[in-house]
Amino acid sequence: MSMERFRDRTAFITGASRGIGKAIAKAFATEGANVFLIDINESALTATLNEFREQGLKAEGALADVSDRKQVNAAVQQALEAFGNIDILVNNAGVIRDNLLFKMTEDDWDTVMNVHLKGSFNCSAEIQKIMVENRYGRIINLSSTSALGNRGQANYSTAKAGLQGFTKTLAIELGKFGVTVNAVAPGFIETDMTKATAERMGIPFEQFLQYGASQTPVGRVGQPEDIANAVLFFAMEESSYVNGQVLYVAGGPKD
Ligand code: NAP
Repeated sequence: MSMERFRDRTAFITGASRGIGKAIAKAFATEGANVFLIDINESALTATLNEFREQGLKAEGALADVSDRKQVNAAVQQALEAFGNIDILVNNAGVIRDNLLFKMTEDDWDTVMNVHLKGSFNCSAEIQKIMVENRYGRIINLSSTSALGNRGQANYSTAKAGLQGFTKTLAIELGKFGVTVNAVAPGFIETDMTKATAERMGIPFEQFLQYGASQTPVGRVGQPEDIANAVLFFAMEESSYVNGQVLYVAGGPKD
């Protein structure tokens, strides 16, 4: 049973049509929030919006590439038209372009930086205006255990470590306006993204999941809902003294 902890709040979630973003959107909506979903994949976005509405959840969305400031601006306007306000921003949209450094192309590098770093910058810069005016806001960025270093992910680990610096700096700048900024750093989570990693490594997904579980102290891999739960904690009104933190949600200690 839901306690509607986010009733009358609006959450803007990027990359929300599948995986972790979808679970985050569902968790907020189940707790009574209005959710505004951003994605670049039109059919996936429409399917998720329909699924949520059939469940009686308050969901709207827009097609936007977070790395394009104009598209982000337009999406923010649409969210305001739909729900009148934005209280919570979750910078979740992400891509991987894994390769060992000697094979990594300039395009692999730029794509990952643009989506994770510029995308989080674009959304945060636009939406903080609303939050600062309201003297209330919650920004949650998706980092990763890869920030600590991961073979084949020079681009991604750099972006995810960068997001931790971004989180701490925004926390310092925006704290006095009632806006907190925190990051969740997931470990191994079962999504299409980890499925793609298994494919690249030529390992059947089941075997990859079993290996992941064996390397994790709690003896299982994570599910998108494990991450959603941590995001909700940072987004709670009662979490106003938690600011500039990076929470590893990885079934064991990481930092
Ligand atoms: P996912 O299943 O690949 O979903 C990512 C979503 O983001 C997709 O819906 C994707 O759209 C969307 N997206 C990609 N580029 C975008 C852009 N430029 N603008 C708007 N939306 C965009 O990934 P996930 O596993 O749920 O990961 C979510 C976040 O958690 C990412 O930031 C990821 O780096 C982070 N993370 C994941 C794991 C893990 O183990 N899965 C671990 C640590 C951190 P398309 O459907 O068109 O691709």
